[in-house]
Amino acid sequence: MASGDNELVFCALGGLGEIGMNAALYGFGPPNKRKWLMVDCGVSFAGPDLPGIDLVFPDVSFVERVKKDLVGLVITHAHEDHIGAVTELWPKLGCRIFATRFAANLLEIKRSAEPGAPKIPVEIMAFGDRLNLEPFEVEVIPMAHSIPESSSLAIRTPLGTVLHTGDWKIDETPVIGLPTDQKRLTEIGDEGVLALVCDSTNILREGQSPSEAEVAINLRTLIGNAPGRVLVTTFASNIARIRAVADAAEATGRSVIVVGRAMDRAIEVARDCGYFDGVAPFFSANSYAYLPREKTVVVATGSQGELRAALARMAQDEHPEVKLVPGDRVIFSSRTIPGNEREVGRVINGLVRQGVEVVTDRTEMIHVSGHPRRAEVAQLYGWVRPKIAVPAHGEPLHLFEHGKFARLMGIDHVITAADGDVVLLAPGAPSIVDEAPHGRLCKDGNLLVSANDPSLAARNRLAFAGIVSIAFALTSRGDLAGDPDVVFSGMPTHTRDGKAMDAVIDAAIFATLDNLGRGKRRDPDAAATAVERSVRGAIGAAWGKKPTVHVLVVEV
Ligand SMILES: [Zn+2]
Ligand SMILES: [Zn+2]
Repeated sequence: MASGDNELVFCALGGLGEIGMNAALYGFGPPNKRKWLMVDCGVSFAGPDLPGIDLVFPDVSFVERVKKDLVGLVITHAHEDHIGAVTELWPKLGCRIFATRFAANLLEIKRSAEPGAPKIPVEIMAFGDRLNLEPFEVEVIPMAHSIPESSSLAIRTPLGTVLHTGDWKIDETPVIGLPTDQKRLTEIGDEGVLALVCDSTNILREGQSPSEAEVAINLRTLIGNAPGRVLVTTFASNIARIRAVADAAEATGRSVIVVGRAMDRAIEVARDCGYFDGVAPFFSANSYAYLPREKTVVVATGSQGELRAALARMAQDEHPEVKLVPGDRVIFSSRTIPGNEREVGRVINGLVRQGVEVVTDRTEMIHVSGHPRRAEVAQLYGWVRPKIAVPAHGEPLHLFEHGKFARLMGIDHVITAADGDVVLLAPGAPSIVDEAPHGRLCKDGNLLVSANDPSLAARNRLAFAGIVSIAFALTSRGDLAGDPDVVFSGMPTHTRDGKAMDAVIDAAIFATLDNLGRGKRRDPDAAATAVERSVRGAIGAAWGKKPTVHVLVVEV
């Protein structure tokens, strides 16, 4: 291989255009003979545009095609948008996979709870490690974030070093774990950094995010001065927050009760990794009834209003073990993720209806984001001093604003790429040179289907206007044999003036067949198409909406 032909490229299959399903690739070598390194393999959560779908994965068919040249998959941290697709997609790749202990253990505990989930041989990496994944060398650097052990990766190649930040913020006092390693990042900056691929989540926010330690102080006050029981809801993986609640409980003479399976799992893994050393054991939900009200703090899942989570059930007074009473205090130590406002509102209103006091981050500083605001991003650019900036981890607006910001920071080359764009980082001037196959895959039941699959568009139509099924038989002479069978679903049974929808449909069928003439009626396909069109039209006129109409014609 002539070394002069080597190129270093970057391509994201997810995460550049959405906050979610992060999956980045670095390629090194001559075109068509590159070795690939993958960073993260996360999920995204489906919105109402995809009925019946919960999880969305990046389409990794491109990686499958080059999998013999895939030297490894490195996971930056254990958030679902970075690790959540591993169980589903790693079996297609079969490469070496690396994660820190917390991420590896959390993946394993989740995997073992899923029947039939494949065994994934994660190799544990630690901060300071340099993974030798020829032609890449990957150094693991600690970053503060809203989950333990978030890492940035210094990816060294013969054509230069890329710093891939993962998710991060600057926090000198992160409650648990290490702060962002300014010293090491500056040293790497001194060595020379070709490109910085950086988190854009909070680029629209000025200033610097407050510290996790400040949140801990405020939580302690709110737990200390609560007259009755206190419940704190947060993300299950936010171990620093749970630790802050546990410390506040200890300081105010309360016991901690943990409710929710995701919370149990995250705490078990965190305890195993030492993040609850010196903290008294927690109680489970079945102790709830026996512990004095003013001596307990409940930590529960459900801060996003998730229907099946513990808190939503308490809000409906349907939780089997935990019943809140007037005067209890529920603290939302979380931010409502855009799109979840209605669900969260429903939970809050259910609690307020029960006489429970609800405290949110609208009035108290009880949540901080794990992502960097502009002043923090500016500091990182100062430490790392890259030649090229590639905004990542954002919706188009975030990436665009981050690009503008990087230019303000005096970065020579700013490449605002989207999912699938192949960015040439070196040699020469960086630019987008190609497009790799990319897209979204939906977990539909136990199958994976493309988000563009016609079945999903059809499902949306069915949800909007229902379906009519019509069957009838025609003789070889084109006469109707017997009465048509009609079944419909998801539609009103009567029109505005009280006419049965069945009658509307029947009338349309008979009128159409009469008008067709015997010749056309001998062609079952033509008859089916004509009936479908007229029934849709007749229902459209009666109802104002057109359902899906299926017509089955048999010849007798
Ligand atoms: Zn994260
Ligand atoms: Zn993330």
